[in-house]
Amino acid sequence: MTPTLAAMRVLVVEDEAPMAASLKRGLEAEGFAVDVAADGEEGLWLAREQEYDAIVLDVMLPKINGYVVCRTLREEENWTPVVMLTAKDGELDEAEGLDTGADDFVTKPFSFVVLIARLRAVMRRRGATAAVVLTAGDLRLDATEGRAWRGDVLLDLTSREFAILEYFLTRPGEIVAKSDVLSHVWDFAFEGSPNIVEVYVSSLRKKIDTPFERSSLETVRGAGYRLARDGG
Ligand code: CA
Repeated sequence: MTPTLAAMRVLVVEDEAPMAASLKRGLEAEGFAVDVAADGEEGLWLAREQEYDAIVLDVMLPKINGYVVCRTLREEENWTPVVMLTAKDGELDEAEGLDTGADDFVTKPFSFVVLIARLRAVMRRRGATAAVVLTAGDLRLDATEGRAWRGDVLLDLTSREFAILEYFLTRPGEIVAKSDVLSHVWDFAFEGSPNIVEVYVSSLRKKIDTPFERSSLETVRGAGYRLARDGG
């Protein structure tokens, strides 16, 4: 799997369970970590509580409709990119949606390829000002290209490994708890064992450290991990 969009977190707000489930599955297959909210109220709550890279927001939702959710977030100066899902018979029109501060629209029924393309586009636009190349010594990761290097050597990482490395690279020299890695790289609702993080850290070490006779990823007993600021 190409790790292009690893570590990106997407909130899906959709009340139709089969649609929500298929969105979650499809987005996860693209390497996103996905949370699902089943109504506007829950969607708004999650969008306030968690940091997402994008929100896929259905218009017709129980409790609070999608337009109101989006407008409320913008009023609160939350600029997370929003792609709205509108129905073909257009209960509410796109002009109204634009007023609410949505970034783009996809009309149901939509092709998944189109949705992914729109999501990538809005995230790229929003992320244009953010630093996308992260470094620690000669460890380098380009989040936009989805590639990472040790020196000149391109690293062959799975999307999860890439996401974990990206997360560590945003906090070089800091102790990062396993639970932080879990909540950032896996879904909000992940209920598996935190030990899964150890498995991935171990495989990551075999790719970013062992072949180069380095030891950049330190285990801090009882606390978590620390990526050496100088890349080890
Ligand atoms: Ca709906």
